[in-house]
Amino acid sequence: MNWLRLRSRNGRGATTPPPASIGMGHDESLDAARVRMVHEQIVSRGLRDPELLRAFATVPRHRFVEVGSPYADEALPLPAGQTISQPFIVALMTDAARPARGWQGARVLEIGTGSGYQAAILAELGADLTSVERHAQLSESAARRLADAGYDGVRLVVGDGTRGWPSGAPYDAVIVTAAGPSVPKPLLDQLSPDGGKLVMPVGTRVHQELTVVQRRGEKLTRSRRDPVVFVPLIGEHGFGE
Ligand code: SAH
Repeated sequence: MNWLRLRSRNGRGATTPPPASIGMGHDESLDAARVRMVHEQIVSRGLRDPELLRAFATVPRHRFVEVGSPYADEALPLPAGQTISQPFIVALMTDAARPARGWQGARVLEIGTGSGYQAAILAELGADLTSVERHAQLSESAARRLADAGYDGVRLVVGDGTRGWPSGAPYDAVIVTAAGPSVPKPLLDQLSPDGGKLVMPVGTRVHQELTVVQRRGEKLTRSRRDPVVFVPLIGEHGFGE
């Protein structure tokens, strides 16, 4: 598997602590921390898709995080009172949204661009991605980070993502990275009738369950998964201000 090669490039096992960084150039200790993150937080909890693991071992999470330890097993603060999810939760949601035909060229909609990290993961997987964010300031800094990291094909939109982005529909996958009281109807309408999958935390403002909906024709199959805590989805089909 590719991601294993990435690990051995450093000649270190996943459980060896990273060495102190040297100089200002490419930081090998960050590479090592990222590979450890993949093993200790994602593989160890049962996610095994090689493509997914390779994406998490590749995307430089440290470039999307301003405060805290970028490769720690925790959510971290973003400006405007928002948060970037714990790496495992990003992995779990991405895994649950994987289109049957794979990520390459899949039409994907993300609601809640935030730092741009989840968007970078989806772009690394080869998705044709549109990501909507209600805070213009967050969208602008995500645009900069995505371009700096080489993911310049992502379409970023500022607006209320609870209305979706009809001009890009139908979507093979929709990932909502903020919590709503229910799945917004426009997002279900914009989901591909040919097996499109939507993943979103649904519940109250303080506690939610990760919910997966798959659409076949007009039939929606819903499954509830892990308990999670996300910042609120605020908009016409979400929570109020
Ligand atoms: N996916 C992000 C984390 C997002 S945190 C990352 O990888 O960093 C949730 C984001 O959803 C916040 O940035 C918040 O501003 C945004 N958000 C909340 N309600 C929204 C809405 N109706 N439309 C678009 N974005 C929304």
